[in-house]
Amino acid sequence: MPTPAPSSSRPTAQTPAERPGLSTFRAEAHAFVATHHPLRDGAESPSDADFSVLPEKPAELERRELAQALAWRRTAYDAGFGWIDGPTRFGGRELPASYAAAYRDVERLFDVPDEAYTRFSVAILCPTMLSHASDDLQRDMLPGLRRADVVACQLFSEPDAGSDMASARTRARREGDTWVVDGQKVWTSGAHYSQVGLLLARTEAGSRRNAGLSAFLIDMDQPGIEVRPIRQLTGGASFSEVFLDGARVPDSRRVGDLGSGWQVISTTMRYERAIIGTDGGVDLLLARRLVDLARARECWDDPGIRDVVGEVVARGRATALMTQRFLDDADESGVPGPEMSLSKLMLTDNLLRISAAAQRILGTGFATDSGEAATYAWHQLALTVEGLRTGGGTDEIMRTIVAQRVLGLPRS
Ligand SMILES: Cc1cc2nc3c(=O)[nH]c(=O)nc-3n(C[C@H](O)[C@H](O)[C@H](O)COP(=O)(O)OP(=O)(O)OC[C@H]3O[C@@H](n4cnc5c(N)ncnc54)[C@H](O)[C@@H]3O)c2cc1C
Repeated sequence: MPTPAPSSSRPTAQTPAERPGLSTFRAEAHAFVATHHPLRDGAESPSDADFSVLPEKPAELERRELAQALAWRRTAYDAGFGWIDGPTRFGGRELPASYAAAYRDVERLFDVPDEAYTRFSVAILCPTMLSHASDDLQRDMLPGLRRADVVACQLFSEPDAGSDMASARTRARREGDTWVVDGQKVWTSGAHYSQVGLLLARTEAGSRRNAGLSAFLIDMDQPGIEVRPIRQLTGGASFSEVFLDGARVPDSRRVGDLGSGWQVISTTMRYERAIIGTDGGVDLLLARRLVDLARARECWDDPGIRDVVGEVVARGRATALMTQRFLDDADESGVPGPEMSLSKLMLTDNLLRISAAAQRILGTGFATDSGEAATYAWHQLALTVEGLRTGGGTDEIMRTIVAQRVLGLPRS
């Protein structure tokens, strides 16, 4: 894969005195996004509404949305909005995290392409590499990943190693400066359009559990890798099985020290949970749609439905504030703490409540398509929320992390 050329007009870090104020920055961001995308229509048409909480699109639509998402990343990066709190040497602006959050809030006002296609590369892998990858690997890969010239997927889960990733069996054996990889990964989101994958493999023969594992950025397009999409209950095929049979990756693509794969994937998972937990208030958006549905079905006076909406909104708002506090309190490494598991749990719990209330209102209309707008589409929420409860760590695993690492409860 070609090494992306560093930007010639690279920004330089600004001192606090040179830095624009937050409101000036917000206005600058608003003007920039507005030149490229229309404002989101506050009163969206419910018939067009997508009730899925995971990207599950038919192939043609996925291709189109992917192209739009990549083009938008490049435009934003080239205009200096691609890595607001990232290092200037990689095209960032080294502004405080509050500026990056302000930019995200501005983007949410507009009908921008779906960032889910590049979320792993941009928001999870890039900060993980800043914490673990060598300077050379950072220099070679970060600008391209951040600008979406290169899209990455996550090659962690295996048929017998999901929640228990320390059971990973995919192995890499060294041949000179290259590692040769054999094994199988599964549930790899976006494998079919990614150019590289962050691979967890056992590099020390005979090692057990979380020792002897290493992480690599492996090229997906090579003879030793076969990607087989998995058709899901939802009808989509957004993730795949990945077979590695003599696949090759140079040692220069190792992320972190030899044997430090467990630390690398732990950082990755924390970023992933932080991203899911701060998922743009999708629960609050769906709560608004639930109110619309209840009104349309003339059951908005039902105290049971009102209770659910009140509870969901209160919990959603409280979770957003709590999550912001967790992020503000992160140590100087900036890596989100184990508390982010609580944010993910709160989000999925809220989505389950909304889904149950919609089922109660719609009855059989939830499962059968009567042709009436914005009714049967609610079943997408029920199907995809189960994926959200599982991906990035299941609810049970989140509860264990909160109990042991946040509350300090004993292991048994
Ligand atoms: C939408 C989606 C996208 C995904 N994308 C990716 C990806 O891009 N890359 C990737 O590598 N993986 C991905 N995954 C896989 C995901 O990380 C795993 O599905 C998840 O870690 C659970 O593993 P498993 O499916 O093997 O289930 P298992 O680990 O077998 O769990 C089965 C059940 O047992 C419970 N359980 C297991 N262990 C414990 C325990 N110790 N205590 C209590 N309960 C337990 C679980 O909570 C669950 O209910 C994705 C999954 C989904 C749903």
